[in-house]
Amino acid sequence: MEESRFSVLAMDRLRMTTDGDGVTTLICGMGCPLRCRFCINPGSWDGSVGGKKFTTEELYEAVKIDSLYYITTGGGLMFGGGEPLLQSGFLAEFMDRYKDQGWNFYLESSLNVPRQNLDDVIPYIHEYLIDTKDMDKERYEKYTGGDYDRFYENLLYLKEKVGQEKIVVRVPSIPFLHGSGEEAKQNGEKLKELGFTRLDFLTYTNPESRKDISEAARKNLEILAKREQ
Ligand code: SF4
Repeated sequence: MEESRFSVLAMDRLRMTTDGDGVTTLICGMGCPLRCRFCINPGSWDGSVGGKKFTTEELYEAVKIDSLYYITTGGGLMFGGGEPLLQSGFLAEFMDRYKDQGWNFYLESSLNVPRQNLDDVIPYIHEYLIDTKDMDKERYEKYTGGDYDRFYENLLYLKEKVGQEKIVVRVPSIPFLHGSGEEAKQNGEKLKELGFTRLDFLTYTNPESRKDISEAARKNLEILAKREQ
């Protein structure tokens, strides 16, 4: 049987307290089920920027250089994307194999994946960073092109399974979607009513001031713009 591999968009070493406690390495997986209008990583959507593929051992070899930092600071690995849960089988295999290293595993996800993908990783994740985009079904679906109900049900399921204290919920204020920011505030209120207390409010950079993006990413954005016409 062919060994499973994780398709990586990018890696970022020696991150300090941005992903959780301590020093972390961010590992961004290829592919995303959503098509956010102001995506900062559109080249990741279909793997068109050609990510490198790692076996579990190769990924371990690539990140173990910082093992001492992870262990002494309480840090570890953050899996982000794109959407890392599209490759949940690999992640579960990797974390199971290396669970005794003394590293923490963190996950950043939009949760817009089949329930099974989430179940695959729950036994191993120390803390979650959840990208909500919007808590209004109509706005969410317009902005992401994804299924709000799937995200919402997974969010409640995750809270039930692991407890809200292990979940940081990102509440973005997105230019042109949230106008004055009032809607973002309402999203925060809705999340509080659902019992979430660890809210991370942030404002997206205006996409028009964004740095140059890759050719593959530009093509993906053109396809999206055509779909919206
Ligand atoms: S969730 Fe949205 S912003 Fe994040 S990679 Fe996917 S399309 Fe882009």
